[in-house]
Amino acid sequence: MRYSQSFFPTLRDDPADAEVISHKLLLRAGYIRRVTSGVYDFLPLGLRVMRRIEAVVREEMNAAGAQELLMPMVQPAELWQTSGRWEKYGPELLRFTDRHEHTSCLGPTHEEVICDLVARELRSYKQLPMNLYQIQAKFRDEIRPRFGLLRGREFIMKDAYSFHADEADLAREYQSMFAAYQRIFSRFGLTFRAVEADTGSIGGNDSHEFHVLADSGEDLIAHCGGCDYAANVEKAVSGRDAASGLAGELADVATPGASSIEDVTAFLKVDAALLVKTLVYRITGGEMDGQVLAACVRGDDQLQEVKLLHALDADSIEMADEAGIVSIGGVAGFVGPQNLACKVFVDESLRGGTGLVAGGNKRDVHVCGLDMARDVAAATFADLRETRAGDSCPKCGGTMALSRGIEVGQVFALGKRYTEPMKVRFHSQEGKEETATMGCYGIGVSRLMAAIVEQCNDENGIAWPLDMAPFHVALIGMGKGEEVEQACAGLYKDLQAAGFDVLWDERNERPGVKFKDAELLGLPLQLVVGDRGLKEGVVELGARGGARESVPLTEAVARLVGLAESIRGAAH
Ligand code: ATP
Ligand code: MG
Repeated sequence: MRYSQSFFPTLRDDPADAEVISHKLLLRAGYIRRVTSGVYDFLPLGLRVMRRIEAVVREEMNAAGAQELLMPMVQPAELWQTSGRWEKYGPELLRFTDRHEHTSCLGPTHEEVICDLVARELRSYKQLPMNLYQIQAKFRDEIRPRFGLLRGREFIMKDAYSFHADEADLAREYQSMFAAYQRIFSRFGLTFRAVEADTGSIGGNDSHEFHVLADSGEDLIAHCGGCDYAANVEKAVSGRDAASGLAGELADVATPGASSIEDVTAFLKVDAALLVKTLVYRITGGEMDGQVLAACVRGDDQLQEVKLLHALDADSIEMADEAGIVSIGGVAGFVGPQNLACKVFVDESLRGGTGLVAGGNKRDVHVCGLDMARDVAAATFADLRETRAGDSCPKCGGTMALSRGIEVGQVFALGKRYTEPMKVRFHSQEGKEETATMGCYGIGVSRLMAAIVEQCNDENGIAWPLDMAPFHVALIGMGKGEEVEQACAGLYKDLQAAGFDVLWDERNERPGVKFKDAELLGLPLQLVVGDRGLKEGVVELGARGGARESVPLTEAVARLVGLAESIRGAAH
């Protein structure tokens, strides 16, 4: 590509509304542009990188025996009604009605469509197993689209779906996909971790997420320093010493104006571990639909809402408003679990707790001497607390640590969650009609582009791993004259013949501008052809961010091939 003929609109300054480095750099370097909230154009540079990511994903998926197909973005409501997700999915599912009064949605994922397809074509166990995948745009009307490509509304996903005659074969495929994902994320040169995951709105039994470790990540991952246990905090379990105060009578204490954990611990001079934090939620879906309930964790813990959601088997929960709190006999800021007119879910760590402090369900009052067994008889105990750094590992007793991660992929052993309602059936070897079992496997292709930039950047711009860069080589002509032009034209051809994608910067710009742009765009190799060097028969080459060396013009291509090989070698 010749730079002067390209559409690479770079920006001099960081865009004001971009908070994370990948968003800033992908905008500044002309890879993406925002169309509307959470929706982006991929400019030629962005599309080139996307194609590179897709190529790696395709290669590994094909090698693992999956077949590519392409499904539509528009999905009829009936399919989602059959699976039971039309009601469950919530406002992230964008629904619309066409001129014939048919209701449809934009696909946020494709379990329904693939099951519908496979149900119609599957006859015999002989057709199983099968693994079908696509790389395609998804739409999720995210409540808070942000961080550029990291959380979009329209984004590109690789989604694969496998079908099996029995659970053992699903387990085999799950392992095979897990291994393929390990290979894929290693090939991008990423520091990542596979963690046990919650199955979320997709449902199913077993699941792992793959996280790129980065401070900008929206997920928190708990991992053990002593063994391989690692899990998303939405799911992680961990141990911690029990806390109990001195047993005694339940008594009111005045705590004027003190409602936060910090205020109460300071005012009553008690340890936060002895406080009961009581949160009030309104529930949607499940058996407790529409009800208000209280959930308690220790004052030094955070409640993990995903765990509560599962304990309730509900579709969603939200903090109750003042009216909700009053309806169960509580007072905002002073709620305690005793004598409430609702179900009370309590974290396991409070089981058997005595001498605790809780809200008094009266304004400016707390109670002390609370005994869980005696005073909160109707409590349902469950694991509700979020793992903290320093907790003990449930597997080996080692010490847990927390890291931030960007979820770039997830694998699910779904079982029959979709195949049952969507009637994906086959005739077994014994001639019986059976329901197939299923797995699904996603990779956030466009999110990956941003995740790579989060890990690969410096103060001058993006530092793409060699095989992810939109062009491998920046060929930079310096100085005027026919010789420079001719030497560049020759190198441009020879480099391409040697397998490089080359960006030839033949613009009439100062060398400083050309170097700056090559670094901002993140091109890994530079080849500089100057009029002075040419008089001696030499050019300069090097890796982005490193020193350049002078080499004879005639050896330039071979030397770059060698440099690329050594970079690839070091990456593996
Ligand atoms: P998240 O928890 O980040 O919302 P998810 O668990 O809902 O993601 P999955 O249903 O597992 O997402 O989708 C598969 C993959 O698609 C994710 O691992 C992620 O890489 C990508 N992905 C999901 N939502 C988005 C989004 N809003 N923008 C970009 N990529 C996304
Ligand atoms: Mg996920």
